[in-house]
Amino acid sequence: MKYPVFERFYTWQGEGVHLGRAAYFVRLYGCPQECPWCDSAGTWHKDYRPAGVQLMTPEAIAACVAQESPEGAVVVITGGEPILFDLTPLVEALHGLGRRVHLETSGIAPLRGAIDWVTLSPKPFGTLPLPSVVQQAHEVKIIVHDTSDIRDGLATLDGLKDDAVIWLHPEWSKARERDAAVLNAITEAVKANPRLRAGYQMHKLYRAD
Ligand code: SF4
Repeated sequence: MKYPVFERFYTWQGEGVHLGRAAYFVRLYGCPQECPWCDSAGTWHKDYRPAGVQLMTPEAIAACVAQESPEGAVVVITGGEPILFDLTPLVEALHGLGRRVHLETSGIAPLRGAIDWVTLSPKPFGTLPLPSVVQQAHEVKIIVHDTSDIRDGLATLDGLKDDAVIWLHPEWSKARERDAAVLNAITEAVKANPRLRAGYQMHKLYRAD
């Protein structure tokens, strides 16, 4: 089994419940959702297809994780859409290092692998998440580009566990522009439903560019 690794890097988690934790990211290539505002379009857009996608075995990825990050750093498998792959061998290799493994997914295929933390980001305008993945999610991240995304994202979450956290994140261009409609809609949604949390992509504030 080999995985198409678009990039891997060691940094910290910039959003969600694990905000600020040291994290090694493994970004896999390929995603059929084609979100118009995707901030990882290099993982799927034909105009950005890189020459350097590396096919790596689970053992090779685990060896990089061990060399390039200290014990205690979690591993975040992201994309692209990593749930398209059977993650079982990769998760087993990473668990063999004693690492916790987190997954970021839009939930469009059955989850394979004993993931420790599942972050579901539903894409209501694309393929909807499978109920089985919704049920396994520990947190949900709804990206709000238009105010209607809040309603549409919440409508995909039937069967979500009671203790799963639901974040509303302004899509980055809207956050950067301080889009009043989007930011106010998130604020009002959270005030109306304390189950929801207002979120942000903190890592983007740390960029020097
Ligand atoms: Fe990009 Fe994620 Fe949408 Fe895929 S699901 S197009 S990786 S934002």
